[in-house]
Amino acid sequence: MTAAIIDGTAVARASRARTASRAAALQARHGVAPGLATVLVGDDPASEVYVRNKRRAATEAGIADFHRHLDARSAPGEAAGVIADLSGDHRVSGILLQLPVPGQLDGTALVDLIPPGKDVDGLTTLSQGLLARGMPGLRPCTPSGVIELLDAAGVGIAGAHAVVVGRSELVGKPMTQLLLGRDATVTIAHSRTRDLAAVTREADILVVAAGRPALITARHVKPGAAVIDVGIHRTGHGLAGDVAFDEVSAVAGHLTPVPGGVGPMTIAALLANTVSAAEAGTASTDQRFSHYVL
Ligand code: NAD
Repeated sequence: MTAAIIDGTAVARASRARTASRAAALQARHGVAPGLATVLVGDDPASEVYVRNKRRAATEAGIADFHRHLDARSAPGEAAGVIADLSGDHRVSGILLQLPVPGQLDGTALVDLIPPGKDVDGLTTLSQGLLARGMPGLRPCTPSGVIELLDAAGVGIAGAHAVVVGRSELVGKPMTQLLLGRDATVTIAHSRTRDLAAVTREADILVVAAGRPALITARHVKPGAAVIDVGIHRTGHGLAGDVAFDEVSAVAGHLTPVPGGVGPMTIAALLANTVSAAEAGTASTDQRFSHYVL
């Protein structure tokens, strides 16, 4: 079998175009431009690239840019003050704190200062609780992007056995919740799983977010499975994922490449969340949550 390669760049492009139309409609109907505030603390080069890409994509989609760059030695009170300012700014629909933050700051505590209606990364304790309860709210971007890729590729989720490798708050745990919400039978594997290959071979849908290069090889994959590679690693030959692409593409039914798979979807989902947050801000209270994607 040769896997169908899921083109995340193309799916993300289409998603961003839909988001741009929604942003334009909001502007036309309510005179409101959605606004995204990115908060970067320090000068980590990878974080700078991520934030720059998010800001550029937001601007292209008609989302106003409110960027705040804090010194690497910022005190907790200063970072909290910036988030409080942005929380109270009616032009800002969504706030994103780029993680990780320098050691003197508590990233989880700072994220939790973001009001749920502006939590476009979907990472506050409240947003994660709403997700776990299946209640409306803004969903984490990378797992949302994975669901969109599966849908775009025509992979049936309801009733499928999905195995998620990784249990982080950022990717693994919310991924399992979103798959459950779509009626998959979900197994979560992690670094203490005894026989990883025995577990992953049961998967119709295998989502890998372990942060271990080439962890998943052909022997880990059931023939015909849809394999989504969330991992990103910088190697001497460019970017690579958690999946050994060449050998797995001979076994899987669908496979995402790295780069060009999940990565572009994360930004597309962030933009969609920002416009959802702006739309909810213009709705009456009882309609508010109907704008959020479940
Ligand atoms: P993390 O380090 O927080 O979590 C990794 C998880 O993988 C842990 O739960 C751990 O138990 C599990 N794990 C580690 N080694 C394992 C092994 N040998 N077998 C089974 N499970 C194992 O990482 P994260 O933040 O969830 O990110 C995971 C990967 O996804 C990283 O490579 C990261 O760069 C990438 N990532 C990509 C995007 C994107 O937009 N494409 C977004 C976020 C993260």
